[in-house]
Amino acid sequence: MNNPKLISSNLIDCIPILEKCPNNCKPCYYNDEGLYRNQNITDMLEMGDDDPKSIPIDRYIPSLQEVENKIVRVNSGGDSSIKMNYVLSVTKQYPKKFYNTSLPFYLTKFPAPVVFTCNPHQDEGWFYAVSHAKNLMFVRIRVDTWNVDTINRAVTYYANAGVPVVLTFLYFNESNKGTIQHPENYYTHKHVENDRIIIKPNVWDSIMNRYPFHNVLSCGSPESALCADCGNCELLYERAMSIWYK
Ligand code: SF4
Repeated sequence: MNNPKLISSNLIDCIPILEKCPNNCKPCYYNDEGLYRNQNITDMLEMGDDDPKSIPIDRYIPSLQEVENKIVRVNSGGDSSIKMNYVLSVTKQYPKKFYNTSLPFYLTKFPAPVVFTCNPHQDEGWFYAVSHAKNLMFVRIRVDTWNVDTINRAVTYYANAGVPVVLTFLYFNESNKGTIQHPENYYTHKHVENDRIIIKPNVWDSIMNRYPFHNVLSCGSPESALCADCGNCELLYERAMSIWYK
């Protein structure tokens, strides 16, 4: 597996569960048809493998040789709380790793830092307030331009609690562009490899400028979605390890 978003960064993906995530966040970049690994599955089906469950599960579990000294990002596009015992068992060999979840129930059970998405259903006007977990690496807040009240409340809550915040600006595609409530704020632009409908750079900047806190960051930038150009996950992983695990 070769995630083009992670190229030249110090991160490597581990995807213990291939099935699409059942949390059903909308939109979800990772459930899109055009995503590189969904395309891999489509290619395998076209080559005659008509049962997705027969695709080798270890296809997305890198060996220690592949990992080298990188930080393993567990469950991008999935949720580490789902089939948690299995997820923990197949990732226990990695010395440097972090998990992802949008479910607050088992945060403190993870044996490593966790990225927590606090508003998986961003347009419903609520977010999870769970700053107690000492292994929170950062809180991810899903952002579109019509959920600003929820963003404001969530950023204020987590910034005051001293938890790093990373705003994730949501991408749309042709199949779900009808859900965009402020089309004037969005345009079609290349995201890593595929064209997406993405927030305009000036609108991105205007949202970030609302939060002049040192611990409020964004996932990527208007100029680049590549992790190598961002570095937040690496920085905040090291921060979490130095603060909470020593
Ligand atoms: S925050 Fe930065 S490093 Fe982390 S996933 Fe987003 S782009 Fe990559």
